[in-house]
Amino acid sequence: MYWEKDIETLSFEKLKEYQLIKLKETIFQSKKSEYYGKKLKDIDSSSINSISDISNLPFTTKQDMRDNFPYGFLTVPLDDVVRLHSSSGTTGNPTVVYHSKQDLDEWTNLVARCMYMVGVRKSDVFQNIMGYGLFTGGIGFHYGAEKLGVLTIPIGPGNSKRQIWFLKEFQVTTIHILPSYALRLYTFFEELGVDPKKDLKLKTAFIGSEPHSEEIRKKIELLYGLKAYNSYGLSEMNGPGVAFECQYQDGLHVWEDNFYIEIIDPDTGKVLPDGEEGELVITTLKRDAMPLIRYRTKDLTKIIPEKCKCGRTHRRIDRIKGRSDDMLIINGVNIFPVQIEKTIMKVPEVGDNYIIELKKENFMDKVFVKIEINENTFHGTLNEIEKLQKKITEELKSELGINPVVKFVESGSLPQSEGKAVRVYDLRNK
Ligand code: ADP
Ligand code: ZN
Repeated sequence: MYWEKDIETLSFEKLKEYQLIKLKETIFQSKKSEYYGKKLKDIDSSSINSISDISNLPFTTKQDMRDNFPYGFLTVPLDDVVRLHSSSGTTGNPTVVYHSKQDLDEWTNLVARCMYMVGVRKSDVFQNIMGYGLFTGGIGFHYGAEKLGVLTIPIGPGNSKRQIWFLKEFQVTTIHILPSYALRLYTFFEELGVDPKKDLKLKTAFIGSEPHSEEIRKKIELLYGLKAYNSYGLSEMNGPGVAFECQYQDGLHVWEDNFYIEIIDPDTGKVLPDGEEGELVITTLKRDAMPLIRYRTKDLTKIIPEKCKCGRTHRRIDRIKGRSDDMLIINGVNIFPVQIEKTIMKVPEVGDNYIIELKKENFMDKVFVKIEINENTFHGTLNEIEKLQKKITEELKSELGINPVVKFVESGSLPQSEGKAVRVYDLRNK
């Protein structure tokens, strides 16, 4: 049941003591970099007596990483760096994260821990449908799975018919996939005459990398007849393997021997108590080549204060609501795209894809929700369609206080991306 029982079930007090030691080491290590050498020059580790004293340290932002491109955060000689991952950098310098051999071993171990936690074993066959390359999703899981001794198929995303062929021929039991792509992939099964529930041996899916609602998870579980576990990570913190659901699927355990987490008020920077929603801030506790202190993820969530039934002591975070930048202000009402998703996905006729368009009309914000609906409904009578449109509009109105125009489109007709789904098209300033 546990990959590393002693660490995963360490008592809360012992975990804090361990974190304090690791934080001091991290401060020491980080000061070897040009950036933290200057930033933390007045910080003396001996003044840190408990892990909560971390709140006296400054935050680190994505902008700090960009401003110190390329090597400002590096703490080891380049000779000891064995890999880098980088964001796309379309809006300026990319953010680059460097890894030493030791960093990659730690990362691999964390992913193995995640997979083992929900029952993946040597006898499984794993199809990794997540992108490989600079994006950390694919490669992160790849090494974790191989460490567990699992037969790993590094197929990457796209080419849906080939995906299905592999799933069937190799009796794949475990997949790692973007939730948006899992729904799209499903639309290809019928054409190939393959029934995912009868003809495949799938039992576990890891879904993550993009915000998604509980409704989407349920839909994926139902369509494929498997259990889908939410996986959270970001390239600044290696990638996948930061926080992960256990068999109870009730919040994501953060591996607190590697990451110290805080929730802050994004406006004031004040640390909030467990249970309150705010921005997730993470400090690496074991990273060698590029430690990051109090990194502001911009991801909104809360820490779940209760202990988990599984026996692990590492605290859980709630499903990510979105990034603070994702919040839409629609005629003064604050809404996250995932809240719209939650409402529309409750309706069984709704298919696998949707987009939200925002426009200005007479100086007011107007929301258009375009939804793919399943084949039968799309070809239903006008009356039925109008009734369904009205129902969804009313639900969005009553649950979110917006008055959208709901439009149905044919399955497969909305834009699709191979990477993370783009759901919002804000045309208000165009
Ligand atoms: P990019 O910044 O280019 O999107 P990353 O792969 O580092 O590249 O993306 C990490 C971000 O993806 C996280 O900060 C978070 O916003 C989002 N994310 C990752 N996993 C999840 C998840 N399980 N649920 C919601 N959002 C997620
Ligand atoms: Zn648990």
